[in-house]
Order: sequence, then C-alpha cells, then structure tokens
Amino acid sequence: MSQVERVTRINQLRRRLAESGGRITPQRLAILDALVYGKSHPTAEQIHEQVLRTSPTTSLATVYKTLDTLKSLGEVRELELGDDSHHFDALNPSAHPHVMCTRCGRIEDVELPEFSELSSRASAASGFQITGEKLEFLGICRDCQN
Ligand code: ZN
Ligand code: MN
Repeated sequence: MSQVERVTRINQLRRRLAESGGRITPQRLAILDALVYGKSHPTAEQIHEQVLRTSPTTSLATVYKTLDTLKSLGEVRELELGDDSHHFDALNPSAHPHVMCTRCGRIEDVELPEFSELSSRASAASGFQITGEKLEFLGICRDCQN
C-alpha cells in the first residue's frame, strides 16, 4: 500500500472513530498509527509494543478496546491463521486472501482476482448460503527461502 493510501486510510479511521462518538485520545491515535504504518497484520501484543514507544502509558486493555470498537465499525478484520494468535487488518477490512510464512510468521495479502467468485461457487456447489469467507495459504516467504 502506498504512502498516500496509508494517509487516506488513517484519516478514514480517525473519522470513523470520531463519528462513533469515541474520543480521539493520543493513545488511540498511536494505535491507529501502529495499525496503518506498523508491522503487517499485527497481533494486539505487537500493536501494544509499538504504541509503547510513543505512548508509554497505553495499556494492552486500551489496545483491545480500540480494536473492538474498530471491529464493530467494520473497519478492522480479525484473522486467525493457525499460529495461535489473532491478527488484525485495518488496511483492508474486507475479505481477502492471505499467505503466512510458517518459519517467520510474516503475513501478507495475496492478490487473487478469482477470490471474488469463490463464494458464489461455494454456494452453488454446497447449497449453503455463504455468510463469510476466509482463504489462507501457508508457505515459506522469499526471505526465509534464502
Ligand atoms: Zn518467512
Ligand atoms: Mn490483509
């Protein structure tokens, strides 16, 4: 995601938080910063670690509360990728496929144009009404292959 897109995204998140009646505190802004500019698909603990550098009084509970608010606004997606921790995606809250490295834990988006069709195919093949999607691939990232 480009720098311009990140700035646009963080402004969107600020606006959504403000509209929801939440106070825009320095702690919350630091959390948004970590979500948009920090490690890709972080866990709550990783967000907390990063926030502590600029906002040392922020508690892990505040991180969880802010994530909950953003989740209920549909602005953050929570991911379970089988590594026993929950990861958060505030850059793109709509369903999209991911790849996870089984050596270093890196998680990235993967562009698959076919993904948008999979739900209707799954519905046609199963007769289910599809209410959610997740698609994850496990593998070894470029860095870990070297
Ligand atoms: Zn790796
Ligand atoms: Mn993602």
